[in-house]
Amino acid sequence: MPSAPSSKPRILTGDTPTGQLHLGHYVGSVKRRVELQSTHECFFIIANMHAFTTRAEEPQEVRRDCLEIVRDHLAMGIDPARSSTFLQTEVPAIAELTYLFAMLLPFNRVMRNPTLKDEIRDRKLGDRYSFGFPLYAVGQTADILAFRAHSVPVGLDQVAHIELTREVARRFNQIYCGVSDQAPDEEHVTLGGVFPIPLADVGKVGRLVGVDGKMKMSKQLNNAIFISDTPEEVRKKIAKIYTGRQSLTEPGDPGNALFQYVETFIEDPQRVDQLKDRYARGDNIGDGHIKQEVAEAVNRLLAPMRERRAAYEGDDDGIMDILLAGCQRANEVAEKTLARAKEVAGLKFFDRTLRIDR
Ligand code: ATP
Ligand code: MG
Repeated sequence: MPSAPSSKPRILTGDTPTGQLHLGHYVGSVKRRVELQSTHECFFIIANMHAFTTRAEEPQEVRRDCLEIVRDHLAMGIDPARSSTFLQTEVPAIAELTYLFAMLLPFNRVMRNPTLKDEIRDRKLGDRYSFGFPLYAVGQTADILAFRAHSVPVGLDQVAHIELTREVARRFNQIYCGVSDQAPDEEHVTLGGVFPIPLADVGKVGRLVGVDGKMKMSKQLNNAIFISDTPEEVRKKIAKIYTGRQSLTEPGDPGNALFQYVETFIEDPQRVDQLKDRYARGDNIGDGHIKQEVAEAVNRLLAPMRERRAAYEGDDDGIMDILLAGCQRANEVAEKTLARAKEVAGLKFFDRTLRIDR
């Protein structure tokens, strides 16, 4: 049964199943998704094909992580009745649009993407990465445009991908829909373009540093606090954050990694100001004490999430139902977009109907 079209603005964002979700995912993107559920039509992708850029040899682990991500979503407050979470590999229009957009983007433009360069460096990929690795950046433009999303709530590392998405959308609208290259971004659709030019919606914490105190929090960099960590694990990890400060009376830098945690997780703004002030003056306050307060705050945030997560432990069947419904709604939208795109680009010859089921 096709659902009624929604008049709400649409968002698309998601996660790569490289492992379970961590605090970086929560503050960088998921928290915003939870807020937008009531005002926006929400599509959340689990990018399981893209996970093969680094995990092609671990298909069972990737598959398991897809289900774990749904559990993490539910734990963090995503409501399957007000949003659609779907699997990239069950929405074939995305792969087809990836191929089409790959034709519109110069190879060197894709390779210039600074996020790709950072990933090659940080993950020490050297020149051993697959052809599919840079292709994933093109694929991500298709993830977003298949849904004709207006905005994309993401962390800072994703802004480069959204810029690429904006470029390919403009180019497509100009070549195939007669939109002028002078047209303002907001007018592309009224001027006949198939694709809105999407905006990156970066939240207050665009890049949460990991417990190594240096790199972006990332599963692959072994510096992450997971939503499913126990209170004790959280305490131990936070105790590791390195600041280099030696004594209670040494003036500290309230712009350091530990203070990003203070500002992100301690709820009381007065307490945050107090801590910053005493730290900056070296007023008898130790890193150990601050870490303890941060760990308590993080555990307060995670406690209800742990509880909600426990309710879905072992219930793979319920998770599969959520994914099936999400994939069905996603295909309704993406198939329509693909048909329109193929039509204007002269690639459509016949109608097709797609049906997925358990
Ligand atoms: P990991 O390296 O742990 O697998 P990732 O960056 O590859 O993480 P994605 O699935 O690509 O994870 O990211 C999902 C969303 O979470 C994106 O919007 C991304 O910007 C955001 N995000 C991930 N890590 C952080 C972080 N440390 N701080 C802020 N946002 C983040
Ligand atoms: Mg990533």
